[in-house]
Amino acid sequence: MNSASAALQPFDIVIIGGAMAGATLALGLAKLNQGRAQPLSIALIEAQQADDSHPGFDARSIAIAHGSIFELNRLGIWPALSHLGTAIQDIHISDRGHFGMTELNAKPLGLSALGQVVELAQVGQVLFEQLKQADITLFCPAKLSQLTSDAHGHYLTLDNGITLSAKLLVAADGANSVVRQQLKQEAEQIDFQQSAVVANVETDKPHQHWAYERFTETGPLALLPMSNQPAVKGQTLRASGHARLSLVWAVSPQQAAQLAQADEADFLQQLQQAFGNRAGRFTQVGKRVTYPLTLTTMARPIFHRCVFVGNAAQTLHPIAGQGFNLGLRDVVGLIQVIETALKQVDDNAQGNLVPFDVGSSEIVHQYLAARQDDRHSTLRNIEFLVRGFSNQHWPLVAGRSLGLRLLSWLPPLKRPVAQIAMGWR
Ligand SMILES: Cc1cc2nc3c(=O)[nH]c(=O)nc-3n(C[C@H](O)[C@H](O)[C@H](O)COP(=O)(O)OP(=O)(O)OC[C@H]3O[C@@H](n4cnc5c(N)ncnc54)[C@H](O)[C@@H]3O)c2cc1C
Repeated sequence: MNSASAALQPFDIVIIGGAMAGATLALGLAKLNQGRAQPLSIALIEAQQADDSHPGFDARSIAIAHGSIFELNRLGIWPALSHLGTAIQDIHISDRGHFGMTELNAKPLGLSALGQVVELAQVGQVLFEQLKQADITLFCPAKLSQLTSDAHGHYLTLDNGITLSAKLLVAADGANSVVRQQLKQEAEQIDFQQSAVVANVETDKPHQHWAYERFTETGPLALLPMSNQPAVKGQTLRASGHARLSLVWAVSPQQAAQLAQADEADFLQQLQQAFGNRAGRFTQVGKRVTYPLTLTTMARPIFHRCVFVGNAAQTLHPIAGQGFNLGLRDVVGLIQVIETALKQVDDNAQGNLVPFDVGSSEIVHQYLAARQDDRHSTLRNIEFLVRGFSNQHWPLVAGRSLGLRLLSWLPPLKRPVAQIAMGWR
């Protein structure tokens, strides 16, 4: 890690935010640099150390889709994370109080898993170790506090007084992106009037690698299978044969506040009532955290010499577990655009060293073009799911019940749904 210095430090790429999107991007770019005569200089600025207080690596568990695992493998990141993953082999989807239900299964698709569940606290530790060993200048803990720009680049001042310049600035600084605010860029926000209650729960039967998504009157409830080795101390299982599951339960903000305060027995009873007995009897709940659920999107996640990735570009409702999966596709999209541009420069240079402007308008606009279709269709699908499945209006209820039934009666229809769930494009 760098020590403070008054002189302006020039970089090709400066990434603000070192959580899931920023860290994977920095590592992917460092891999791209390997063996290059003229490597790109990369700096990563992250406000928090990867400890308990890190907002991007908190007690949440997330499902990483099969397609994302493939990409993380290609970036050379997954091998160090794979031991932390719990496979999702089957997904059960149901509509509480209605006849609709269906399953997605890995086996008929010829796969060993539809995705992997990881605890972000554990992932954060591993990614930070990888960042420290990679050819990246890491400023951590340090915050971007001031930003000015001209035709040639951005000029950044950190809260510790360090000043840097960037030909390309990457905002990976989350839903309330400071870069977005400093550059006075707009983001559209839809407030779903829901909050997610997130906790690890224990059931009295093994999960056998099933994940569950249950649509209830108040909002969707998801349970993801977890390993029996907790990332957080004090979450050991009460009995052998029991299982740990990660719960994301979308409810009204008032109900979320009530569930967060409820004593354990009351909480478990309300959960059992909402979810039913399919996963067994709920026997324990860990620390509960609530998140307000909004959809925040930038129509064009670019600016002069600047691109936005991950939650800084769009923050999704966790209904379909697509937030990081989509963010990773931003990361991969940007790496591919830079890789192609570098290859063109190399081909034309014929062995000579030539200047390369990674923040050029061409590169920024190629990133925009590469991401438009996937972003729009994913955002549309998620809004449709949130509105369609949180609604008790009878034609919608009948339509979605029929939709879920059709999926189970007509297995060929499942493939496209499974493909979306697994992050295949
Ligand atoms: C309850 C819940 C369940 C979810 N489940 C899933 C799931 O199953 N599958 C899935 O794919 N996604 C899921 N998601 C979404 C996923 O967690 C996020 O999309 C992903 O973690 C976002 O990563 P990020 O790096 O883009 O942003 P963030 O995690 O918000 O990281 C932003 C980083 O920027 C840093 N930062 C901010 N400002 C500054 C500054 N001024 N200077 C320096 N650093 C700064 C912050 O410290 C932070 O580390 C879920 C989300 C929630 C809330």
